[in-house]
Formats: sequence, structure tokens, C-alpha cells
Amino acid sequence: MKKSINHILCLLAMQTTLFGASWSEVLENHREYLPEDSLIMRQYKAFCEGDAPPIVDPRIKEIPISENGEALIDLRASNGKRVSMMAEPSLPFAGPLYNSGLPGASKMRGPVFHRLEKMVEELDSLAPLFGYEAGQIDILLFEGLRDLGTQKMLFEKKLEEILKANPDMTLEAAERETCKWVSPVKNNTPVHSTGAAVDIRLWDNKAGAFLDLGPFGVIWGGSTFAPTFSEAITDVEKNNRLYSLLAAERAGLTNYVYEWWHFSYGDRYDLYWKKSDLEEKIALYGSIELY
Ligand SMILES: [Zn+2]
Repeated sequence: MKKSINHILCLLAMQTTLFGASWSEVLENHREYLPEDSLIMRQYKAFCEGDAPPIVDPRIKEIPISENGEALIDLRASNGKRVSMMAEPSLPFAGPLYNSGLPGASKMRGPVFHRLEKMVEELDSLAPLFGYEAGQIDILLFEGLRDLGTQKMLFEKKLEEILKANPDMTLEAAERETCKWVSPVKNNTPVHSTGAAVDIRLWDNKAGAFLDLGPFGVIWGGSTFAPTFSEAITDVEKNNRLYSLLAAERAGLTNYVYEWWHFSYGDRYDLYWKKSDLEEKIALYGSIELY
């Protein structure tokens, strides 16, 4: 079903410019930077064909993990100028203008941080192409690591909430429902628990405002705007998303096609897209247990 809906939406988008440029037009306009085998083009094609796997897809979950032990870095301690934390909230998940407020939010594996630094360089070099100046666009981090203890706590809180609202529900059914909202710890390696994933926003330091890439989601509701190649966004938002995607791909980060703000390196999802089916895929990072 999903396959045909995405496909129809993409076909419709190719035929109408009523609401501005379609993704296919935006990509076509930047073709010299987007070879057919680029990550962006492969993800776009898979998304249109309904063949882009969600994070819990068996094709992702079957990739083995061999923990390589790379250390975490803490963005709060590193005082990065162009890659830094979003503002501190008064409460965890207080809103999309703040970082998540969870204890590990500013941490990530070292190579992920280095790729974010590289992404800033790429944002600089691509800036004139998208109407910005080198040095104008920075990266702000909403959340990196969410350790297993915190993940488990969030899952249990949501489960409790669902059971309270539905007293007749069996525990099994309530757990299934909870999985739609929070990644389970049981039989799963939640991607943020590995330190390989980051949720980021771009910051225009000249305008003193977030760059407009469409509504920033995380837990404030999945929406039609969250998938990276959503047609339900403005031309400006499409251009800004492409700007972000190009910089990320050049820096070695892989975007999660159902959330424009989520990028990773070295996890199963990254390996799925970067290695062909003929190559051995082994993810680098397992879950981190801090509490
Ligand atoms: Zn994320």
C-alpha cells in the first residue's frame, strides 16, 4: 500500500507545478552535483518506489554489528563554534527550539562528530549555489546519544501512559502500540543508543534564525513534512533540504529518509545505503549502557 501511495505521489509531483517545483525538478536543476549513483538519487528513487526501508525493516535489522569501541565525544565539552548544542530546555523535550535535555544528548561517537565538522565545511563550499555565504550556516545539535537506560525509561513511560488510557488492552498489544512511538530496547538496537546518530538543525548566523527546512519533528508528531522528500513543503524548504543533503553526503553522513533532521554514520542504516549487496555489511557500533 505504502509503495503505491509514494509512487503515485511522486508521479503526481512530476506532472504538476501548481504548488511550486517538485522534487524531481529540484533534483534535475542540480543534476551536475547529483550523479545517478549518488546516495541522494538512490534514496529518492527508493522513496518514490516505496522501497526505502524504515529503521526497523528486516533488511536493516539483519545487518550484524561488531562494536569497534570508538570513544564518545561530548559537544558541550568541545565548545565547537560551528557545530554546537541547541539551547538548554527547562524540561526534557520542552520544544523544537531546544536540545532534547536528556543526559547523553550532547554525546556521539568521535567519527560522527568529525563528519559534522566536515559537513560545515561542505555547507560553506556549497553556500553560493543555494543563495548563502560561506561561514553563514552552522549546525545545531538537538540530540545525539540516548543511552539504553534512558531509552528504556522513555519506553516504559509511554507504555504506562498507553495502559492507563486503555485499561482493557493486553500488555502485548500495549507494547506493540508503544513501539510506534518509542524505539523498544527488547530485540532491538535503537539507533540513537549507539552514538552513531544525530538529530540536527541548520542555523543561519547572519539572520539569527533556524534555516527553514520545514517543521522539525522528533516527538512533536510525525507529519507529512518529516520525510525528506515530502512534496508537501515549499520550494525554499526543498532547496534547503537539498543543500543539507549534499553537504551531508559529501561529509560521509547518511540521512534517514523519513526524518530530514536525522543523520548517521557507521550504524546499520548507514551501512545499508553505503555498501552494495555484493559487499559485506557490518555495522560499527552497538548500544551504549550508561545508566
Ligand atoms: Zn534521530
